[in-house]
Amino acid sequence: IFHLVMDERNTPMRTYQVCNVMEANQNNWLRTRHISREGAQRVYIEIKFTLRDCNSLPGVPGTCKETFNMYYYESNNANLWFIKESQYVKIDTIAADESFTQVDVGDRVMKLNTEVRDISNLSKKGFYLAFQDLGACIALVSVRVFYKKCPLTVLNLAQFPDTITGGDTALVEVHGVCVNASEEFEPPKMYCSADGGWLVPIGRCVCKPGFEENKDICQPCRPGTYKASATDAYCTKCPPHSSSPQEQAVECICEKGYYRADTDPRSMACTRPPSAPENPITTVNETCVTLEWSPPRDTGGRGDITYSLHCRKCSGDGRKCAPCGSSIHFVPRQFGLASATVLVTDLQPDSNYSFTIESQNGVSDLSPTPRGSVVINVTTSQTVSVVLKERRSKDSVTLAWQGPERPNGVIVEYEVIYYEKNQREQNYTVLKTRSNMMTVDGLKPGTTYVFRVRARTDGGYGSYGGEIELETNVLAIGDPNQSTILAVSIAGGIVLLIFLVTCFVVSVKLPGSRTYIHPHTYEDPNQAVRDFAKEIDASNIRIERVIGAGEFGEVCSGRLRVQGKREIYVAIKSLKAGYSDTQRRDFLSEASIMGQFDHPNIIRLEGVVTKCKPVMIITEFMENGSLDTFLKKHDGQFTVIQLVGMLRGIASGMKYLSDMSYVHRDLAARNILVNSNLVCKVSDFGLSRVLEDDPEAAYTTRGGKIPIRWTAPEAIAYRKFTSASDVWSYGIVMWEVISYGERPYWEMSNQDVIKAIDEGYRLPAPMDCPVVLHQSDRPKFGQIVTILDKLIRNPASLRELANSSCALYLSREDAPTPDFSVSTVDEWLEAIKMGQYKENFSSAGYVSLDSVLYISVSELAKMGVNLAGHQKKILSSVQSLQTQGTHVQV
Ligand code: AMP
Repeated sequence: IFHLVMDERNTPMRTYQVCNVMEANQNNWLRTRHISREGAQRVYIEIKFTLRDCNSLPGVPGTCKETFNMYYYESNNANLWFIKESQYVKIDTIAADESFTQVDVGDRVMKLNTEVRDISNLSKKGFYLAFQDLGACIALVSVRVFYKKCPLTVLNLAQFPDTITGGDTALVEVHGVCVNASEEFEPPKMYCSADGGWLVPIGRCVCKPGFEENKDICQPCRPGTYKASATDAYCTKCPPHSSSPQEQAVECICEKGYYRADTDPRSMACTRPPSAPENPITTVNETCVTLEWSPPRDTGGRGDITYSLHCRKCSGDGRKCAPCGSSIHFVPRQFGLASATVLVTDLQPDSNYSFTIESQNGVSDLSPTPRGSVVINVTTSQTVSVVLKERRSKDSVTLAWQGPERPNGVIVEYEVIYYEKNQREQNYTVLKTRSNMMTVDGLKPGTTYVFRVRARTDGGYGSYGGEIELETNVLAIGDPNQSTILAVSIAGGIVLLIFLVTCFVVSVKLPGSRTYIHPHTYEDPNQAVRDFAKEIDASNIRIERVIGAGEFGEVCSGRLRVQGKREIYVAIKSLKAGYSDTQRRDFLSEASIMGQFDHPNIIRLEGVVTKCKPVMIITEFMENGSLDTFLKKHDGQFTVIQLVGMLRGIASGMKYLSDMSYVHRDLAARNILVNSNLVCKVSDFGLSRVLEDDPEAAYTTRGGKIPIRWTAPEAIAYRKFTSASDVWSYGIVMWEVISYGERPYWEMSNQDVIKAIDEGYRLPAPMDCPVVLHQSDRPKFGQIVTILDKLIRNPASLRELANSSCALYLSREDAPTPDFSVSTVDEWLEAIKMGQYKENFSSAGYVSLDSVLYISVSELAKMGVNLAGHQKKILSSVQSLQTQGTHVQV
């Protein structure tokens, strides 16, 4: 029935009403017209309605309902006039929520409820919505159908179009298009999340040469500036001696007389050829001459000056000159000399030469003007003519000689060189004198020597005269041998070796009592097991059920009878038959590691069975299994304080491990176990195999398997696993916990995760995440425990949520809600209309309000609160107790 009523502002409000509560067997339907889905895969339906409490209707029979059903039917046909009941797909059963706004209707108060549901994976043109009433008293006030879009946006110079959010696969990958005058640096992409926000930007565009970035566009470089490469960030001023008269310059043009070499970067000043070399000097040495000069006064603005030489041989009067030809040589070379000196060899004695020294640099070839050069003339000297006389004794020889006829300067001295015949290479002696005669003493008797003589003038040395062989008399003695030296060096080596060994012994760190000992430091791995794990008699173990599968065999639950104590529940991991020695050792290594730990948040080792088969590891039993599966199973069912309590436990276990210098390497929710009291314990210890058997671990380019999503970047890049990298993994675990087991980085590929992290992207705060829990620091585990403890003691600090997109889901917090004070469990239960459970609470020991603050779903179930709706109502009220003290929202 279509009704017109007045809302709180007295404006007419149309509603569809049904209220056949007095009659049985109701089945009333209300259907919408065809609603086009406009390409959206997920559509949200917000309904506002009022629902009468059956209790408030006097004398209604038991058939009175407080719910109605919502359905949809997908169709390409927009004009269906009849749809069969069986064709509809049910969306949900809708009940009145405990939160509401009040609407005065005449003298009655209407409770207006708002509920949002979604339907996903739509594929046809549109759908019909339908409402089924089975005997309730309902007024449907509004139905709002909408979908969410990620709005058109420009990021990193890439434009991302208006994108409709996805269906069940939460993220839509969108490729960006580079804005005008830009090009791809790395393909830009982002993900459009289910709630209409853009996530994880990767890649970017860059402005083309001649353009620079300004806000979200590329604008041309102004005159006088340029940008040569797309990867340069901004246009820069033209370098010296260049200019750019027009906009959009990709380079600046050189001034007249200045040039830019091909290899010069565009950012370098324009340059010009150098001036001529200066102050050349020569030093003649027989038929060689060394030329030296000073660099040009003007280098042209460059550092790449080289020199080239040209040689001409001239007639005696210096008038006629001709190129020297290939018989003379330049050391190190004739052209492209880097230093201002060269040695010219194989000149002819007693001749005139003219050398031209040219300077050039990287732009000389671009300039039409001739190279700067300087010319120097050289005359080579004559040889000492002949040795005139000689005199011999058994140990000395006397020589006399004639000087050169036309020396090229004043003779400064003579040089006598001699050596034993046939031993020139090993040993020759040089003596000098100013006179034309010399006596050479100290010679060996009975030995033949070779002598040569040359003159030196102020222009350099002349050439040697011919060789003279002379022999003395009597016999000689040999050299001392070198065996002593060898003996000394061997002794030295031994001393060094001893020194090294000493250092090594001293630097080995002796493990302290609180440091974890790696089982591999034991020569016999069985000894490590004996040292750290208690041997259990297999007859004391009763295996009951298989609860999981491990790398080495089944994991079972069962009971262990311990002498003098009652039976305890245990988990039993066994090593499957047909194992190798290495497998047995690796399997037991987990026990020898676990056995070293003793902490309430580390899985406790009860012992091992190694004396008979199968080999087993017995640990305490964790009723709720691994944390990731547990959270997924109980999505949304815990209070923030409970979640933070779990995180606190994990941090405390990790602090203990890091204090023991144990690095876990594979901290993830799947490797945390949960017991019936919601206590979380770190598990999965072992050696290399820990990562080998983790299905999340992927091979990296550097070899080795790493669970990418949980691992710190430095550990992925160069295997730097430390307690600090464990803290990174802990951050990921926090995210997993707060998001109830969501997969970190959703369905992004490992490669995209690595890239995104590298570019500074971090996981956003999950829905309903307290602001204080979402920070991107890497504290020590000790600090984390302290921070979490503070938050638990002051729950109000957890109230502000990080994620504003949660506002939709939390809107009821904004609604004015009546609250009143309660001081006992009974009052509280009454206030939230759960009074029927007063008995259950008091007999389970919950007598004070404080004691219910940390209650869990499983505890509620144990005390007999089994209806999911009631559990939810109680837990959400517990949450408000935590955040608002004893003011209860009803
Ligand atoms: P694991 O080989 O240690 O990864 O164990 C395989 C699976 O067995 C785990 O994912 C858990 O579900 C289960 N499991 C292992 N240890 C325990 C335990 N102490 N208590 C309960 N379940 C366990």
